[in-house]
Amino acid sequence: MPIRLIIHGGAWSIPDEMDEAHRGGVRNALMTVYPKLQKGMSALDAVELAVNLLEEDPTFDAGRGAFLNEKGEIELDAIIIDGATLSFGAVAAVQNLLHPVSLARKIMEETEHSMLVGQGAQAFAQRIGFETLEPQALLTDRELAYYHQINKDPDFKPHHPFEPLPSDTVGAVAMDHLGNLAAATSTGGTPRKMAGRVGDSPIIGAGAYADNESGAVSTTGWGEAIMKVLLSKTVCDKMLHMKAHQAAKEGIDILHKKGKGFGGVIGINTLGDYAFAYNTEKMAWGWMDENNEAQVRIR
Ligand code: ASP
Repeated sequence: MPIRLIIHGGAWSIPDEMDEAHRGGVRNALMTVYPKLQKGMSALDAVELAVNLLEEDPTFDAGRGAFLNEKGEIELDAIIIDGATLSFGAVAAVQNLLHPVSLARKIMEETEHSMLVGQGAQAFAQRIGFETLEPQALLTDRELAYYHQINKDPDFKPHHPFEPLPSDTVGAVAMDHLGNLAAATSTGGTPRKMAGRVGDSPIIGAGAYADNESGAVSTTGWGEAIMKVLLSKTVCDKMLHMKAHQAAKEGIDILHKKGKGFGGVIGINTLGDYAFAYNTEKMAWGWMDENNEAQVRIR
């Protein structure tokens, strides 16, 4: 089977001065993870590792560098899905953890449940020895300044097209040498969201989906709209009947027409064809091509 890896670092009006950092983060994740996939790493391990690298990178709205909510706190959401079994793990509104996607995986593999939120997720993290950080460890000067800036604007709406947001959600989709697909998404959500707000990212079929029989997808964008149209599952279902790229495009059309929303998707179908589409001003994404070269785009 072809070995595939595609990654996104969010879709919105990424300010031009942040382009290079987005490119660098996506490239670093591709170049670190793809050789491991070639050496036999599973798709599930690959998407977790890729997302971990992006969570560590303060460029993105995931892990370190996440947006602050209305209370000035960071609440993180994440999901990981195994296309071989449809098993998934998800967390929502967790605090003081660098790698919510890894906590999601532990939920998938070590509990009878699929999703834990807030204090329950936090307690589970502690029980299994996850490192809890000081809140400042995830906070960047950029996000603190942005929080103060938008707090002065009573009309601020994070989904207003195209409010130039400094950073964005991350996601990865992979196919391994066995043909297994997996997807993962991690986010700090939207800026100045209400405390407890959960977006699309940790919701199965919305923020990500993977099924070895159709395809695997990770999304980014305005979560309230993405949830309405279960964007990831919609694109995976379409991959059964049309080319991967067309499926992604039609998914974004549905997001726009029915969900009245903006966002982006990346994916891989069962043949290993890549897919991407977005209706935002920009998306940051990249994939490994046939010549083992990282192709990174932001536009
Ligand atoms: N989809 C994420 C959310 O709504 C945000 C994003 O992708 O920018 O939480």
